[in-house]
Amino acid sequence: MPRTDTVIIGAGHAGLAMSRCLADREVPHVVLDRGRLGERWRTARWDSFRLLTPNWLSRLPGWTYRGPEPDGFMSADEFVRYLASYARSFDAPVVPHTPVTRGGSTGAGFAVHTAQGVWTARRVVIATGYHSCAHVPRQAAGLAHDVAQLTASGYRSPRSLPDGGALVVGASASGVQIAYELARAGRPVILAVGRHTRMPRRYRDRDILWWLDRMGKLDRTIDEAPDAGSALAEPSLQLAGMEDEQPVDLAALQEIGVRLAGRLRRLDGTTAEFDGDLSATVGAARRRLARVLAEIDQYAASRPRAGFGPPDPPPDVPVPDMPSRIDLRRAGVTGVVWATGYRPWYPWLSLPVLDDCGRIRHRRGVTDVPGLYAIGLRFQYRRSSSLVDGARHDAAYLADHMHRLAVPR
Ligand SMILES: Cc1cc2nc3c(=O)[nH]c(=O)nc-3n(C[C@H](O)[C@H](O)[C@H](O)COP(=O)(O)OP(=O)(O)OC[C@H]3O[C@@H](n4cnc5c(N)ncnc54)[C@H](O)[C@@H]3O)c2cc1C
Repeated sequence: MPRTDTVIIGAGHAGLAMSRCLADREVPHVVLDRGRLGERWRTARWDSFRLLTPNWLSRLPGWTYRGPEPDGFMSADEFVRYLASYARSFDAPVVPHTPVTRGGSTGAGFAVHTAQGVWTARRVVIATGYHSCAHVPRQAAGLAHDVAQLTASGYRSPRSLPDGGALVVGASASGVQIAYELARAGRPVILAVGRHTRMPRRYRDRDILWWLDRMGKLDRTIDEAPDAGSALAEPSLQLAGMEDEQPVDLAALQEIGVRLAGRLRRLDGTTAEFDGDLSATVGAARRRLARVLAEIDQYAASRPRAGFGPPDPPPDVPVPDMPSRIDLRRAGVTGVVWATGYRPWYPWLSLPVLDDCGRIRHRRGVTDVPGLYAIGLRFQYRRSSSLVDGARHDAAYLADHMHRLAVPR
């Protein structure tokens, strides 16, 4: 039975960040992954995928982007290579192709069961990803069997769908990017729009994430959020990392022929019913965006010598008249893409740390079970916690927490 001090489960960026912080503190550990390092970037992203965060915003403990395009956006393959170089830089003890099938307590520590054997450890860090399972809403069950359906993590390219039109459900980062790609491939697209967070790619001559980072918005903690529940439910930014910095917001999508509908309420065979909330949803996103841009303007005004560009707010989104009920077959729709978010999933975990929604109960990644930690959770502490750039803070915090509690071996 192999034994180590700490088992990290998951070799995505969060598991590797944790590994680096433990290595810096000379804590013996392993990083187990069911597949290869960065497995989700290899197998759960579409072919044309690019990160929506600029390359410079991929800082990891002891590692930054040093390539030729700090303001560019890595493809999934490039990001895997970025992670692999990072792992090599400190000889990360990654054990690939080792799915964890059960994780439980031994009384004195943990037993981590894998297909290859059982690891025992004093501590376990769960780094299996907050976006581990594509969420499919219950409406999917009502769809006619001859209409194809797949999730954003199963979508690869327009060829993933039969010839014809598509209904894309969900207008956050994945949904707008997939709708854009399908429309550019000449497919008729209907996009069902729910609550979303609109952001321009650039504002006042800078990338929007430059502003959010510089103004400390990504560092806002869960303790500062007026309502932790809504902070956790915040939709992802409606952004894409296109090489030509093409916007993918609802105005731009309509310009290339995407038809917008409200939130999908019901599917019955080939009949799709939508809520009449598009105008309200678009209006709410516009108001939230206006508040962010006003804060940027205020920040820029307080630094008059910085030479920022003039305010250039994005155009309003026209709200079309769409029927609340559409016959998908008559509209030529042959496939549905569910871009309706992701959920964490821990089917192997046999410790009582999950809440009613299946999320890990924790405080800054420290669970109620002594020695059990998690990293990469949404708003684990900072708003950036589930972004690549945010893991460094949480990994350092957890490593320090473990160090403080360390008993002499
Ligand atoms: C479509 C999409 C786009 C995103 N784009 C960006 C972006 O542009 N910029 C950004 O900063 N963030 C982005 N994110 C958010 C976030 O950075 C990613 O979700 C990131 O992959 C999370 O990293 P992680 O290390 O926490 O988890 P993951 O990368 O998901 O890694 C978890 C690892 O755990 C392994 N694993 C899972 N279960 C087991 C098991 N039972 N046993 C062993 N191993 C297991 C998996 O194989 C995987 O390698 C995006 C998320 C999604 C879904």
